[in-house]
Amino acid sequence: MRIFKFGGASVKDANGVRNLLKVLDYEGITDTLLVVSAMGKMTNAFEEVVHSYLYKKANLTSSLKSVKEYHVNIVKELFEKENPIFDEIQKLLESLQDFLVQNTSKDYNYIYDQVVSYGELLSTKVISAFLEKEKIANQWLDIRTILKTDSNYRNATVDWEETISNSEKLDRDTLYITQGFISRDQKGDTTTLGREGSDYTAGILAYCLDAESVTIWKDVAGVLNADPRVFEETVLLENISYQEAIEMAFYGASVIHPKTIKPLENKRIPLYVRSFEDLENTGTKVSKGIDLHPKTNCFIVKKNQILVSISTNDFSFMVEENISDIFKLLHDFKLKVNLIQNSAISFSVCLEDGYQNFSKFYKKLHPNFKVKYNTNITLFTVRHFDADSIQNIQRKGDVLLQQTSRETVQLAIAEKK
Ligand code: ADP
Ligand code: ASP
Ligand code: MG
Repeated sequence: MRIFKFGGASVKDANGVRNLLKVLDYEGITDTLLVVSAMGKMTNAFEEVVHSYLYKKANLTSSLKSVKEYHVNIVKELFEKENPIFDEIQKLLESLQDFLVQNTSKDYNYIYDQVVSYGELLSTKVISAFLEKEKIANQWLDIRTILKTDSNYRNATVDWEETISNSEKLDRDTLYITQGFISRDQKGDTTTLGREGSDYTAGILAYCLDAESVTIWKDVAGVLNADPRVFEETVLLENISYQEAIEMAFYGASVIHPKTIKPLENKRIPLYVRSFEDLENTGTKVSKGIDLHPKTNCFIVKKNQILVSISTNDFSFMVEENISDIFKLLHDFKLKVNLIQNSAISFSVCLEDGYQNFSKFYKKLHPNFKVKYNTNITLFTVRHFDADSIQNIQRKGDVLLQQTSRETVQLAIAEKK
């Protein structure tokens, strides 16, 4: 069995959907399961719906209208008027409206998952209907009947035992079209695996089904040694070991979701990252073996970081007890720590404020510690660095913090405007 994952960029418009068919024509469909993300930037658009619903009711109608129009416009290009897909989209959006009317919960994360999951439900309905129209028999699968998690909304943890047992129900001869990113908890409510989580869904299903491979179809040639949006010259990495891929994803190479690799590594299932626009190109293979080929510097960039330096009010040492208090707060406020450095009297961390909690964190910390911070910091990570590669990064602005280990150097930089 092969798992193909199509991300938002690959199905962002009608041509993307047609192109998905080209990929299947080229690759064949035997023993294949498709995991698909929300179309284009629809998850962001559904985040807007959540925001209006909770804080700006006046915008709710227009934010709902824009997600509807986006899908309807794509569907109009792909189908005749009579196609049942128009009704299916209408029905899904009505059930979303019903949820918004009936919901009494004030829990932001719970509401978020119930709403944004419609992005994947809609995209998979469209793709399944399109393949049907093109005479490719397939079955739309609600992944929430298989993929079970706890109730940690927006970052749910997989219940492996139940998910493995549910996967046994799947028929290996059917071409399933299913959603990435979304799942269901014990209460029957929708959960999600975290932004960009569709890659992880592909990894989970591959593990559960003992798949032969996973292919992630991308708008780039494969995993490159740097994000082409930030670096002018990039090199395609043809082979990467699981370990190297985990390191790159961990440091923030947004091309693969960090949780994807581990389940694949555990069963030695290869992961291919390939271009959906250039099917002849074999892209990147992540597997056991060659660490990195070609051997080259790899650059990872994380923008919008906050660099915080914390010291005690009385200049006593920063020791285990203080540090553990700080870490408890970081955990409570879901602040992601991307770099740590400490000296006798100060402790510095480079943070990502994914849930807009930094000011609350600061308020809690401030009475007990001296806290200085800089926002808008860029964190550059260079794997397999050499002197030139570090100098190139140092030129980008003021280096506020630099940390070097055997294979990796990290620089927190206030970039020149
Ligand atoms: P998807 O549609 O699958 O979710 P994304 O837009 O999330 O795709 O990821 C693809 C993008 O990731 C590329 O267009 C590229 O700009 C970016 N990217 C960041 N780092 C890398 C890297 N090391 N190699 C390739 N692409 C990268
Ligand atoms: N649609 C979700 C997101 O945009 C999941 C994914 O695309 O992987 O975050
Ligand atoms: Mg993505």
